[in-house]
Amino acid sequence: MINETYYAASARDRDERDTLRGDYGADVAVIGGGFTGVNIALDLAERGYSVIVLEQHCIGWGATGRNGGQVTGSLSGDRTLQKHLTRRIGAEAAADFVWDMRWHGHDIIRDRVARYAIECDLVSGHLHAAWRASDMAELHDVAAEADRRGLGDSVTLLDRDGVHEALETPLYHGGLLNRRNMHLHPLDLVRGEARAAESQGVRIFEGSAVTGIVQGPRPVVETASGRVTVETVVLAGGAYHRLEARSLAGRLFPAALGNMATAPLPAAEARAINPQNLAVYDTRFVLDYYRLTADNRVLFGGGANYSGKASEDIVGELRPALERTFPRLRGVEIEFAWSGQAGIVPNRVPMLGRTAPNVFYAQGYSGHGIATSHIVAGIMAEAVAGTMDRFDHFDSIPHARNPLGERAGQGMLTLGMAYYKLREALGV
Ligand SMILES: Cc1cc2nc3c(=O)[nH]c(=O)nc-3n(C[C@H](O)[C@H](O)[C@H](O)COP(=O)(O)OP(=O)(O)OC[C@H]3O[C@@H](n4cnc5c(N)ncnc54)[C@H](O)[C@@H]3O)c2cc1C
Repeated sequence: MINETYYAASARDRDERDTLRGDYGADVAVIGGGFTGVNIALDLAERGYSVIVLEQHCIGWGATGRNGGQVTGSLSGDRTLQKHLTRRIGAEAAADFVWDMRWHGHDIIRDRVARYAIECDLVSGHLHAAWRASDMAELHDVAAEADRRGLGDSVTLLDRDGVHEALETPLYHGGLLNRRNMHLHPLDLVRGEARAAESQGVRIFEGSAVTGIVQGPRPVVETASGRVTVETVVLAGGAYHRLEARSLAGRLFPAALGNMATAPLPAAEARAINPQNLAVYDTRFVLDYYRLTADNRVLFGGGANYSGKASEDIVGELRPALERTFPRLRGVEIEFAWSGQAGIVPNRVPMLGRTAPNVFYAQGYSGHGIATSHIVAGIMAEAVAGTMDRFDHFDSIPHARNPLGERAGQGMLTLGMAYYKLREALGV
């Protein structure tokens, strides 16, 4: 089963949808059936818009159905965003906006799961584990900010012994336990959200790769076997699309991230290594992340290949890190290994913008997109409906474009990652 994702193999909803054939019309066409696209569609349908979603493979096929399933408050590019917004709206409003971007996604997900009765193995509890003793300072700051903002009850700083009570591992110098963060089966979540969107009237076509967007007062979205004419297009193809290249080429770089899942562990063993069923990641730039699944597998990810190409030996690369983390799992059977592409933005701030007045795009959460995509979807739906304030905060952020194109940018990212990996190996 190596190379099939654990999520695809365990998905609750496996129904397929039709391919787009012929001419259709709607208010909005959304390209891409991941968290971003599906939630934009759902949000717009809840506001009364008629929406068609076009997905080249099946719902959740991209990063959404391949990720670590950790719903955390980490917002990539937060410092750059806050600095930019401080100039735009003042320090206090900027700090509030960024704080909301960190945490509001959790509420949206919980609300959708409850409102639409989505079964997706949602569990609360996360540990941000300090790789080096010096990393505790950063975790102290997060705890202090949570305290100031009334979320102090949700977080607890753990020292080395505290971490070793929470996890059977020789690693880490301490950590921040966060009960607001969650983990879940992301493919089940997005497919539940897609059903919710359909219940609100959204039409979803799978196996429908968009080949081009004809811009104009009523843009037309084309596939090999059909066309959709709309008022507005929203491009939500993540790191997998090459559309609107004239505006977007050389701005987003796909990074291939690997994941694997062990065979189910005996319940007693799963409880022994992770008694509180926490999702965990560490404080390194190139980090390890892991958690237990509902059927007691360890789902483990880490590293990143910034060449954009999937590794040919994911298990060979990840197994040493898994065994270093949980020595009792030495030699454990690995049943699944897969990779997915995350969209990396050089300044790390999510890219929200337009390639024409009625062609929007949202992409690039730099590997931290489950909560963020849910907030971004709301911002995009709001913008399509004509309320531009939050969208403009992002749209006004300059994003570098690599004039040499994606390949040269990819090379620079690969070099950058090698630098960080070397620093971390040397402990500096
Ligand atoms: C291995 C891995 C682990 C991760 N772990 C975490 C984690 O634990 N926590 C977290 O918060 N984030 C994580 N992320 C990031 C997170 O998964 C993404 O940020 C998020 O899923 C992005 O959603 P999206 O809808 O924007 O893009 P995607 O999920 O990639 O969806 C884009 C969709 O668009 C479709 N598409 C592309 N081009 C076209 C076209 N021309 N026509 C039609 N359809 C098209 C694709 O097929 C795809 O389904 C991880 C990412 C990876 C790859």
